[in-house]
Amino acid sequence: MPVRIVLASSNPGKLREYRELAAGTGIEIDLLPNFEELPAFEESAPTFAENSAGKALHFSRFTAEMVLADDSGLVVPALGGAPGVHSARYAGPNATDADRASKLLRELEGKTGEERGARFVCVMAVARQGRALAVVSDCAEGVVAGEPRGANGFGYDPIFCFPDGRRTYAEASAEEKNLASHRGKAFRKLIEFLVPKN
Ligand code: IMP
Repeated sequence: MPVRIVLASSNPGKLREYRELAAGTGIEIDLLPNFEELPAFEESAPTFAENSAGKALHFSRFTAEMVLADDSGLVVPALGGAPGVHSARYAGPNATDADRASKLLRELEGKTGEERGARFVCVMAVARQGRALAVVSDCAEGVVAGEPRGANGFGYDPIFCFPDGRRTYAEASAEEKNLASHRGKAFRKLIEFLVPKN
């Protein structure tokens, strides 16, 4: 019997990645039905952990199924940790992924070497009917590119390079990204919780 879990998200890029990560693990992931019509959860806490746990607990009150929520973002130490928990709203409420990437590149203009270091962070929380069941997290170190490159992935992928600075996540295959990424690493911890080996 597969372990079923519903994802509290409206981000198709995230669902696609979760499905790739769950393939062959015995975990079945769907979007939380009617997610857009349910009362929204305000992700206004200062940490990824509070936002993801709050989101999972909030949405788990509207379904009998296990709910998975994540909060993720890009942390740039040279910018004091920005965009961080504000990654999704970095360029205003109606901005696109491209707008957010352009804003970050502008902020980093003139910065070279270690000052372009960055890390993706992901915290995942699982809850059922108002009870938290698990929280896991991980991060992926990298470098902000000079300009956007590649068409794969989503969000900040076209400007986030692997640590050697040669290729962006958007230039990598899904398998390569998932092996190295914050979400891939955190999800492998979650697999151990959802489908324990013994
Ligand atoms: P949230 O977790 O839905 O609040 O989104 C966080 C922000 O970080 C969004 O702008 C995402 O596009 C971005 N983000 C999160 N994970 C990734 C990733 O794996 N690649 C690129 N951007 C990401």
